[in-house]
Amino acid sequence: MNSQKKCKCGFTLSDPMIVPKTKYNKKGYFWLSMGYSAKPVEVVFQCQNCGEIIDSSTDEEVIEKYRYNSDIIQ
Ligand SMILES: [Zn+2]
Repeated sequence: MNSQKKCKCGFTLSDPMIVPKTKYNKKGYFWLSMGYSAKPVEVVFQCQNCGEIIDSSTDEEVIEKYRYNSDIIQ
């Protein structure tokens, strides 16, 4: 296991440049667009510099922790 994942510019999960973003399924995006809240299906950790996603989680606890973060722009 490599716990020190790095994006191509060298940032790791502990760097502020790596930001957790939520991902929703289609139904979730529908509810969001209607102004309702929806629960993300996945949290991804994306570098704000290069856009690389260095980690992701579908763990309920992680999703709960970051569910009010902004969603990823695809
Ligand atoms: Zn990067």
